[in-house]
Amino acid sequence: MSWAQGLIADRARGLDASGIRRIFDLGAKLADPINLSIGQPDFPVPDAVKAAAIDAIESDLNGYTPTQGAHAIRESVTASLKRDLDWDVDGGDRSLLITSGTSGALVLAAMAMLNPGDRYVIGDPYFVLYPALASLTDARVDLCDTGDGLRLTAERVEPLLTERTKFVLHNSPSNPGGVVSTREECAELAELCRSRGVMLISDEIYDEFVFDESRTDVAAGDAAWTRPPSAARLGGDASDGVLLIRGFGKTYGLTGWRMGYAAGPTPLIEQMAKLQQFTYVCAPSIAQHACVACGDVDMSRHVAEYQARRDLVLERLSPVTSLPTPGGAFYAFVKVPEHLGMSGTAFAEAAIERNVLTIPGGVFSQRDDYIRLSFAAPRARLEAGLEIIADMMRG
Ligand code: PMP
Repeated sequence: MSWAQGLIADRARGLDASGIRRIFDLGAKLADPINLSIGQPDFPVPDAVKAAAIDAIESDLNGYTPTQGAHAIRESVTASLKRDLDWDVDGGDRSLLITSGTSGALVLAAMAMLNPGDRYVIGDPYFVLYPALASLTDARVDLCDTGDGLRLTAERVEPLLTERTKFVLHNSPSNPGGVVSTREECAELAELCRSRGVMLISDEIYDEFVFDESRTDVAAGDAAWTRPPSAARLGGDASDGVLLIRGFGKTYGLTGWRMGYAAGPTPLIEQMAKLQQFTYVCAPSIAQHACVACGDVDMSRHVAEYQARRDLVLERLSPVTSLPTPGGAFYAFVKVPEHLGMSGTAFAEAAIERNVLTIPGGVFSQRDDYIRLSFAAPRARLEAGLEIIADMMRG
């Protein structure tokens, strides 16, 4: 063991990535696995957005941008928030920060709000960064049981709120379950948080991937279109205590470009911007310029394809196990049938022996009795993988 080992801080030691690493190590030994473990879309970046990135480089837009974000992308996001949520981020009491990925926004929000010993609430199962924010800030995370339906509700969250709770972190559509909260669930969570002086962070990174039955009508001037319910769209005072976090990476298949944003109460955004100035400096400049072109790209064909794949997952797995219907994103959190007497980890390892990669539920939860599978995989591969998983689940 190297002497450098002794230099490592508790916050790094406290993070355990061994569960997922073991699966990836085992998977790396397979020549051509059916990979249902991937957390990113399987379609390429739209041509117009690729062209805009190349144009940004050739136009010498390669230097720092303002920490808050380049003017053009701020304008574009401001317009989309007005249209979608009727938010005025550049006027009134709201504000906007372009961040290095959605992860960047989450880390800055946690750093801006959490003192050592402060607390925040997340649902279990969770996206892996959520509990890690506690290690990064010396805060404490309170895990909320979300029941068999994996739904984070005000009723479940309320008993967990304490004097030291700074925020509740809500994710819809969710990773790992694809669960989409209803308008009522969003409204009740927002009202609970507001009444207790707690911020509601709404991580909506999968907001474009929402399937027909989970969408709600939204009026925009004379037009109307459908969008997922959001705690940020309640109107009046109801959305005042909401920090909205969204991104470009999943929606347009450009996860490596690291593009996200946060919008919400000005005092909080200002502190996050200050922290960004001293850490990430700004989101990648080329990506900021290129993502302006995203505003004109229609992704509905891809969403429809993911909905068809979701239907396939339900059709093949519902007869053999229970899984909450994914209303969005591209994941299903699937229970390992009890009669198998196996943990999620044991099941995922057995699936690797049959050439299928999934992720054990224990990576996303204190409990290890599920697997997460991603349907961001070509249809034929997905079908082949589902056949093997269903066969294993029948036992
Ligand atoms: N939130 C959720 C719920 C996610 O699933 C992910 C990525 N898997 C992120 C945030 C981080 O995304 P980004 O690549 O934009 O940092």
